[in-house]
Amino acid sequence: MSARTVDVLLPLGLDTPYSYLVPEGMTLSPGDLVHVPLGARGMIGCVWSRTPGGGSGKPVDVAKLKAVKAKLDYVPLPPDLLKLVDWMADYTLAPRGMVLRMALRHGESPGAGRERVGVRLCGPAPARITAARARLLDLLADGFVRGKSEAAREAGVSPSVVDGLVDEGALETVVLPPEPAAYPPDPTFATPTLSEPQAKAAQALSGAVDAKGFGVFLLDGVTGSGKTEVYFEAVAQAIRDGRQALILLPEIALTQAFLDRFTTRFGVKPAEWHSGVSTRRRGRILNEVASGQVRVVAGARSALFLPFRDLGLIIVDEEHDPAYKQEDGVAYHARDMAVVRARLASAPIVLASATPSIETEVNARRGRYHRLALPVRFGGAKVPGLLPIDLRKEGPPKGRWIAPRLEAEITDTLEVGGQALLFLNRRGYAPLTLCHSCGHRMRCPSCTAWLVEHRFRRRLTCHHCGYQTPVPEACPACGAKDSLIPVGPGVERLQEEVQALFPAARSLVLSSDLAGGVERMRAELDAVAKGEVDVVVGTQLVAKGHNFPGLALVGVVDADVGLGQGDPRAAERTFQLVHQVAGRAGRGKTEGRGFIQTHMPEHPVMRALVTGDRDAFYDTEIAAREEAQLPPFGRMASLVVSASEGHVAEGHARRLAASAPMVAGVRILGPAEAPLAVLRGRHRWRLLVRAPRAFDLSRYLRDWRATAPKVTGNVRVAIDVDPQSF
Ligand code: ADP
Ligand code: ZN
Repeated sequence: MSARTVDVLLPLGLDTPYSYLVPEGMTLSPGDLVHVPLGARGMIGCVWSRTPGGGSGKPVDVAKLKAVKAKLDYVPLPPDLLKLVDWMADYTLAPRGMVLRMALRHGESPGAGRERVGVRLCGPAPARITAARARLLDLLADGFVRGKSEAAREAGVSPSVVDGLVDEGALETVVLPPEPAAYPPDPTFATPTLSEPQAKAAQALSGAVDAKGFGVFLLDGVTGSGKTEVYFEAVAQAIRDGRQALILLPEIALTQAFLDRFTTRFGVKPAEWHSGVSTRRRGRILNEVASGQVRVVAGARSALFLPFRDLGLIIVDEEHDPAYKQEDGVAYHARDMAVVRARLASAPIVLASATPSIETEVNARRGRYHRLALPVRFGGAKVPGLLPIDLRKEGPPKGRWIAPRLEAEITDTLEVGGQALLFLNRRGYAPLTLCHSCGHRMRCPSCTAWLVEHRFRRRLTCHHCGYQTPVPEACPACGAKDSLIPVGPGVERLQEEVQALFPAARSLVLSSDLAGGVERMRAELDAVAKGEVDVVVGTQLVAKGHNFPGLALVGVVDADVGLGQGDPRAAERTFQLVHQVAGRAGRGKTEGRGFIQTHMPEHPVMRALVTGDRDAFYDTEIAAREEAQLPPFGRMASLVVSASEGHVAEGHARRLAASAPMVAGVRILGPAEAPLAVLRGRHRWRLLVRAPRAFDLSRYLRDWRATAPKVTGNVRVAIDVDPQSF
């Protein structure tokens, strides 16, 4: 008699599925979710396609196998998602199970939201009344049905109290109808009149959606050119065709403005997907995405792993944004993986940006991506020109950061009722605190980083590990009292200067770490858009797609931040960031102006920003990358070896480097101390692998790993294929 077995991939750090017996009468196919025995409680896994000879590759002894406990009554993961998991695991070298976990770790449990049970009052009051029971009965005294768990939560009692009253007949259970599904987006709700370049681009995209084939489009348009309106037309087409669309956005703070625009265009909100959405709601969205009821999802990078039933289009907005890169756990770039998913789903994908990443730009130049250009702002508004302010010649007095010329410009702007935005990519009050008596610098105890003062919280904070400590009254090194002084500006300190220079102006700090979280951030962005703020002082948070119609002036307070740290990507990042920030101005009726304060006005980045010659900048950057065989002309991977002791990390990194297989064209750079040499108390050494463009780097790394010296003790090796810094 031959027992039937099945391979089940578990969401753990394992690369291969486990084999289980299939109980009599159960049929299972790849993608089905099953409950299998594992440890005390069992675990939910996903039926994987059969690997030869069983999950582990070794012949399995059927007699020792355990049986699948249950098949979950749940829509199976679609084939393109299963392929994506396999593809990503192969590419990133992350364990397959950890990639699967990103596709499962969504709702409270896969079945959540399937059936809701409600309770209501019935029959006589029970004989025994406790305080908890009384609260619950009180709540339900109005006779209405409430969801079982909601009732327990609202009354502040444990679910067992509800169950007890049901058992005694004081409450009855009712199966609730599913929550009404949101109305589907209406593609004809408010169709805009497109400009000619918009219409051309929209037509190309809609055509691609209709053709149901893979293709990558770069929607390349200056800030304010109406890229969103254009890709909305493609979304409308997907809806008309009865298919689903996924819109990836880099930043959660951006979504409110985005949701409003979507609602204006389609009559309803899209389904939102990010870590701020409640688990319960996510469970529900997950089901409705799987069943096809949800037509459009707007979300963060994790939305990439949703089980779309019929994905017809992917949009990656602000495709150049670094937020798309995940570095912890499975290291992946969501933009690149979105392209992979689109290919697996045979759907077109749109990458939208005013400042494309070098990788995307090169792909467009090579003709692998179709470029759709929107060269002018919608409605004829002008993109602000940027003027340099040379800090070496016309800088502000010591201890201040706004140059006299910028100050005069702000004064002029405020006089005519315009808004000004000062951009400084430094959170907190001061990036460094030191003792003026002994020179001691306040450092994080577990990272190679200075502690950043946050004055409104009265604390010193590490921006890398989150360590916090109150600002001490005396220097911890020499004991001098009141000797700690802030050095350099953060946005909080810049706001102080704004208040001193423009006492009548209403100023506001916009930074991702202010108290109040997302809700407050949304309210503040809204206040800026409504003109209730005169001077905004912001970090990179303000660079993202916000629309501030009254914004007339942008001042980049220190354009040199981030440059000159030896990261080849720094120039690109600075260009993108400053360009995006400047693009916030002059979107309404007012004409915008922009100033960049810099010590290096002759730097190619500053020159490109001032002349507005984006292509010249890309030409130089691309040539430099090609010369050095850096991505996308060569391939890179980084291996970070970490351990709690420096010499242990270094020793392992050296042995690892020595064990690298010799292959023509592949170079191992390092090991050297990683850019953040100590992080969360772990010492880090980094190796970089550089290989030719067409080289199968993942395969090379896998072969290497198979023969590399084993890690011992608390040594860890983190692999990042296509790292962002190199
Ligand atoms: P981008 O994403 O390219 O920066 P947006 O899509 O945000 O540009 O558009 C800039 C502004 O122009 C927005 O306020 C948008 O509503 C408006 N706009 C763009 N296209 C149209 C159109 N066809 N009709 C009406 N308004 C438009
Ligand atoms: Zn730290």
